[in-house]
Parts: sequence; structure tokens; C-alpha cells
Amino acid sequence: MTNPAFLEVTGVNKSFGPLQVLKECSFSVNKGETVVLIGPSGSGKSTLLRCINLLEPPSDGSIRFQGKEITEDLRNADKLRAQIGMVFQNFELFQHLNAVENIMLAPMKVLGYSRHDAHDLAVELLKKVHIPDRADHLPDELSGGQQQRVAIARALAMKPKLMLYDEPTSALDPEMIREVLDVMTELSADGMTSVCVTHEMGFARRAADRIIFMEQGSIIENASSDVFFGGEVSPRAQQFLNQIL
Ligand code: ADP
Ligand code: MG
Repeated sequence: MTNPAFLEVTGVNKSFGPLQVLKECSFSVNKGETVVLIGPSGSGKSTLLRCINLLEPPSDGSIRFQGKEITEDLRNADKLRAQIGMVFQNFELFQHLNAVENIMLAPMKVLGYSRHDAHDLAVELLKKVHIPDRADHLPDELSGGQQQRVAIARALAMKPKLMLYDEPTSALDPEMIREVLDVMTELSADGMTSVCVTHEMGFARRAADRIIFMEQGSIIENASSDVFFGGEVSPRAQQFLNQIL
């Protein structure tokens, strides 16, 4: 018997009213893999990520995470989200809390950490994202790249089994993109399972095991990184790559 995939998305559809945004989306992610999700704006990438942590319930289809159907009981959504870290384009840090407090909050509230232990964890995570000296800074005293690394550290504080990134560097100035991608690359190399929506193809080349290309709500390409970067891509995906590169 083969092991079930760590994350298995099968035949997922999602509609908003009459608009069908996801069409029969199926793919799987093995433990430790990094998958990069690309595709034109409006193709459904964010919606697909949001379905995986039930920020949006799929209209139908199946999503199994660690062997368990997540859509079975939506009352368990909080438990699921506690295991899945999500990083957004606009950081979404708590503006009135400094870096270390942003990271401490969820471990204290959700995992029952003491203030002391949460602080230790936050300090350790700030080291991991290479800004140990920014602990006392409020978000608006940090650069965009530093804010996004605090957001990553905040997600990691919940010891997630899976990380979802939705265009984490799209709001950043070019000189800051690299420092965020470097942290993501290090996490992937350490074995963090992740699904990343990004058009940073240098990162995809370095970190991705698999590339998925979406268009108009459908997954039209799902290839190993070797095949994809070896040039064996569909004409449509190639056309998209030519536009973004
Ligand atoms: P992408 O992330 O690839 O740019 P999205 O998943 O954000 O695409 O959006 C896919 C489509 O779904 C778009 O047409 C968008 O307008 C629509 N959409 C996304 N979220 C909602 C929503 N909450 N209500 C209605 N339409 C939505
Ligand atoms: Mg999006």
C-alpha cells in the first residue's frame, strides 16, 4: 500500500454565485515538498489556497490533509488552521504590536504557552528569519521585507505542518524580495511542506519540487521542477512564462 499524499486535493470546484472560479482542481503534495503555483491574475490561485485552509469552503470536491477529509466538518476549521501557516501579500501584522509580540500572540492564545516561553520562541524565530535585532520594533518601523519575515515567523510559531504563501513578495521593493525568498528557500530546504503562489521563477527553480500552472480556474499543467525547467512545458504555460520573465 502506498502512503496517501500529505495534502490531496481532488475535483475541487468553487463558485461565487454564478461565477465558477475553480474547476475540477486536483493535485497532491507529499510531505516535505514545495509546490509553486503560477498563473495569470484572476485564474483562481488565491481561492485555491484559501480552500486548503477553509478560509473559503469548496463548493464540492475533496481535500484531504494528513489523510483526513477537511471539509467533512467545518466546525473543525480552527483546528485545521492552527496546523497551516498562511502568509499574505500585505503581511497583515497587528500594527499596535511589536515584532516579538506579533509572534507571541498565537502560541499564547492557541497553544497555551506562558508569556516567558512564547517570548523565547519568538526570539528564536526572529533569529531564524534573520532579524534578531528587530524584536522591539512596530511594523511601521520595519521595512516591507522585514515585516514579511515577521509574518513568516508568526506563522512558524504555531509549528505548522504546511505553509501557504500567497504572493508573499508582490508588495515588496525589488531589493527586499530576495531576503524573503531566501527565508522561504531555507524553510523548504529544512523540509517544510509548502504551497507558494509566486511568479518568482528564480525561487521556483531553487526551491520547488513541482510547478502547477492554473488558468481560468483549471489546473492545466502540473510538472516536476526538472521537467518544467527542462523546457518541457505546454505552449500556453510557455507563453505565460515569456510574459512574466
Ligand atoms: P488569483 O489569485 O489567481 O488572481 P483569485 O482566486 O483571487 O485569483 O480570483 C479568481 C476569480 O474569483 C476572480 O475572478 C475573482 O474576481 C473571483 N473572486 C475571488 N474571491 C471572490 C469572492 N469572495 N467573491 C466573488 N468573486 C471572487
Ligand atoms: Mg491572488
